[in-house]
Amino acid sequence: MKHINVVAAVIVTGNGILATQRSHGEFKDKWEFPGGKIEPGETPEQALKREIKEELDVDISIDSYIEAVHYSYTDFEIKLYVFVCSVASGNITLKEHKSSEWLKTDELDSMEWLPADKVVLPALKRYFDNVTVDKKSLMPAYTYIEKGHFALTEKHVPHIVNPKDAIVRVTLGSICTSDLHIKHGSVPRAVPGITVGHEMVGVVEQVGSLVSNVKPGDRVTVNVETFCGECFFCRNGYVNNCEDPDGGWALGCRIDGGQTEYVRVPHADMGLNRIPDGVTLL
Ligand SMILES: [Zn+2]
Ligand SMILES: [Zn+2]
Repeated sequence: MKHINVVAAVIVTGNGILATQRSHGEFKDKWEFPGGKIEPGETPEQALKREIKEELDVDISIDSYIEAVHYSYTDFEIKLYVFVCSVASGNITLKEHKSSEWLKTDELDSMEWLPADKVVLPALKRYFDNVTVDKKSLMPAYTYIEKGHFALTEKHVPHIVNPKDAIVRVTLGSICTSDLHIKHGSVPRAVPGITVGHEMVGVVEQVGSLVSNVKPGDRVTVNVETFCGECFFCRNGYVNNCEDPDGGWALGCRIDGGQTEYVRVPHADMGLNRIPDGVTLL
């Protein structure tokens, strides 16, 4: 029997989990996690990134490997490698599919999945059960609206967008004079619309695939500066000048910060420090 290796991306954003509907072929109108065949010489990860670019016109980052399932159709069998992914850049555009839906975890069973994709659901649900950030979708966030105006707004809970990210549940945050500088318009690089707050402690809820120093459940301090650790400035100790787009004073200034419930921390291995067990949380 013919054997085919395929990959599938479970793409998670603030909107939920992406399901796409087939537009043609034997399984027309059935739902699937987008992906496709692994070509000779490709790794599953390479195939997945190529397929998603072709099908949805976005670049993805791969956050977690879920499992590989075998499924036998009448005249061929497949081995399907499944990964949880996030969108690294671009806007999702359906190039091959008929339609798409954003699902919450408890809606996964409600779709007419392709047979092989259905086999993946139990492992996927176990994965999402352990990722508490996916159970909540909206959170209040103290937001820089414009000069002179901060307001409490509602935002989507952040997700991993880069494999070096961590999602931290904020347990304590402070207000800094620099927040007031943003409010008074004296920080030109501050981006209107961002959640303010760059001094916080919390608990790691989720980590990207390249984070190794912290794990979900760790209590951590979040460094004011996020930094790559590799550029000229970082290597010489001037992490506030880090050249990375998410480096330097980014949190609560150029990207969403911590005066909210959950914060995405870039370069988590660099900027998160574990709080010793003997230190109380409050
Ligand atoms: Zn500060
Ligand atoms: Zn750097």
